[in-house]
Amino acid sequence: MFEHPLPSTIKPLKLARQQGKLKGFMPLDRMPALVADCIDREGRLEADLQLDMQGRWPVLSGVATARLRMQCQRCLEAVEVPLRADISLGFVQSEEALEELPDHLDPFVLEEEEIPLADLLEQEMILVLPIVAYHEECEHAPYQAGDEVVEVQDEKPNPFKVLEQLKGNIKKSDQ
Ligand SMILES: [Zn+2]
Repeated sequence: MFEHPLPSTIKPLKLARQQGKLKGFMPLDRMPALVADCIDREGRLEADLQLDMQGRWPVLSGVATARLRMQCQRCLEAVEVPLRADISLGFVQSEEALEELPDHLDPFVLEEEEIPLADLLEQEMILVLPIVAYHEECEHAPYQAGDEVVEVQDEKPNPFKVLEQLKGNIKKSDQ
């Protein structure tokens, strides 16, 4: 379904006039700020986007998804975090245009004719990134503060203590 890599740069105004489509994938390692807290940079973002003119506004709309591998803040094991960004961007080229942009469009200020697509997608994904990642239900015991971990360890029988008790019993039975 997403066999083609997305282009590294796009010309939003030109694409909008041509009713262009952007359907494909981009490796996550192209978005360093997005994967900064991830366990690795494996995987990819998939996007199904289109550009068109809505009145006088060039608009980029559609969906981008990705699965990040992060550290669960309860059990500290890896957790896969699915991300989905519903994108609805209106491109503007001036401050005045920014104020006139319809409310249902998020503004994207175009400073150049051609922009890096990775930067745009990265910004959109960071907006939907959870502040804290964790499993819905952790397979492993939740990580707990030091004292409680020590208590858990003490519950296990100490083999040397067991041996001493046995020796004690033997001595008693000898008497
Ligand atoms: Zn967990």
